Amino acid sequence: MEKSGQHVAGTSSPEAIQRWNEILDSLYDAAELLNTPQSVIKVLERPQRILEASIPLRRDNGDVEVYTGWRVHHNTARGPAKGGIRFHPDVDSLETSALAAAMTYKTSISQLPFGGGKGGVNCDPTGLSLGELERLTRRYTWEMLPLLGPDRDVPAPDVNTDGRVMGWLMDTVSMARGEESAATVTGKPLSIGGSLGHVGATASGVVTCVRAAFLLNDLTFEGARVAIQGFGKVGGPLAYLLHSAGMRVVSIADVTGAIHNPGGINVPALGEFVKESGGVVGFTGADAITNEEFWTTKCEVMIPAALALAIDSTIAEKLDARIVVEAANGPTSEAADKVFAEREIPVVPDILANAGGVTASYFEWVQNRQGYPWTSQEVATRLHDNMHNAFESVHDKTVELGVSMRRAAMAVGLERVSEAIIDRGFRF
Ligand code: NAD
Repeated sequence: MEKSGQHVAGTSSPEAIQRWNEILDSLYDAAELLNTPQSVIKVLERPQRILEASIPLRRDNGDVEVYTGWRVHHNTARGPAKGGIRFHPDVDSLETSALAAAMTYKTSISQLPFGGGKGGVNCDPTGLSLGELERLTRRYTWEMLPLLGPDRDVPAPDVNTDGRVMGWLMDTVSMARGEESAATVTGKPLSIGGSLGHVGATASGVVTCVRAAFLLNDLTFEGARVAIQGFGKVGGPLAYLLHSAGMRVVSIADVTGAIHNPGGINVPALGEFVKESGGVVGFTGADAITNEEFWTTKCEVMIPAALALAIDSTIAEKLDARIVVEAANGPTSEAADKVFAEREIPVVPDILANAGGVTASYFEWVQNRQGYPWTSQEVATRLHDNMHNAFESVHDKTVELGVSMRRAAMAVGLERVSEAIIDRGFRF
C-alpha cells in the first residue's frame, strides 16, 4: 500500500502532527483489514478542502487583533460535513484536519448521512468580552460562508463554544442569505430550533454502550461498580444516569482530585455540592483518594470522561476493571491500548462510545428540515436505537475480522465511506 498522506505543514505543533499521523495510521490499518482500493485511500489521506481566513477583531478598547480561522471538510462523500467549531490557542490547520477526519469515520460508524468537518479560530477566548466573542464569531462565520449551509456543512459547538455562539453563527448565515437558516448549525438554543435531549446526549449514548458491553461480557448491570474520570458536561450527566439506572458509582475524579465510596456515591447530592464548590473534593459522602487509588479502583467498568491520553501503559497495567468505555476523546495512549489487549480488557472506543452528541445533532438538523420538533421521548428512543445499532455493527465487525473494537470501529467507518466514494464514481 502506498502511504503518501504525510502532511508537511511546517507550522503545525508536534501534537497536531501526532494527531494527524494517528488518524492516518488508523486509516491504513483499517484499509489493510478491508483490502480497500488504493484510490479510496488516496482520497481519504488528505482533506477534501480547507478554508483559511484572517479574522480581524475590533477589541473593546479600539485596537484591532487579527486571528486565523479554518474550516476543514475532510470528506463529504456520505453527506454534508459535520463537526464542531473550537476557539482555542492550539487550533491550527493540521489539528483541525485530524479532527475533521475523525468526524468522517464517526458519522459513518453511527450511520448519519454526514461527512466529516471541523473548524476553529486560533485565539484565547477567555480574554475576550462577550461583545468581542460575538464579533469574532460573526466575522469567522462571514469568512466561512462559502462552505456553510444545511446541504454543505453543519457545524456544532466544541471546545470553548456553546449554544450562544451557535445562535450568533446561525443569525449571521440567515442575515447573509436573507432567509431562515436553522438547519445550518446544531447545538442551538431551543428558542431558535435547538433540539430537546441535546444536552446530555453524549452521556446517554455512553450509557447505551455500557449496557451493550455488559451484555456482551456477561456482566450484571444492576449494582455493578463504575469509576468515572471527569464530572463535566459528559461525566456529570453520565454519573447521574448510571446512578439512576442502578449502578454503583464508586469513584469519581476531576481536576480537583478524586473521591471514593464503595457503597456508591450519592450522585445527585454530589452534583449539588459541585455546583457550589466547583469540584468533587471535599464532598462528605465519600473519602478523598489519590489519583493512583482512583485508577486502581476495583470496578466492573472504568469510564475516562475528561482528558485525552489520561490512561498510559502504567495505569493500564494496574487498572482493576473488567471493561473500559471511552467517553472522552482519545483517553487511551497507544501503549496502554496494547496493554489492554494483552490483559484481554475490552475497550469500547471513543469514536463509537461518545457519538451520542453528534447523533443528537443529526436529529436537530432533521427536525429543522422537517419544521417539526420531536418530543424528548422521541429523541431519547431514537438516540438509544442509533447507538445500539452502531455498537452492534462494530461488534459484528470485531467478530468477522477477529480484531479489537477500536480497529473494528474504524473498519466499519471506512467501509461505508469507501462504498460512498466508489458509488459516486471514484472507481479507478
Ligand atoms: P468539560 O470541560 O465539561 O469537563 C471536563 C471534566 O474533566 C471536568 O470535570 C474537569 O474537572 C475534569 N478534568 C480536567 N482535568 C482533569 C484532570 N487533570 N484529572 C481529572 N479530571 C480532570 O468537558 P466535557 O465536555 O465533559 O468533555 C470531556 C471529554 O469528552 C473530552 O475529551 C471531550 O472531547 C469529550 N467529548 C465531549 C462531548 C460533549 O458532548 N461535551 C462529546 C464527545 C466527546
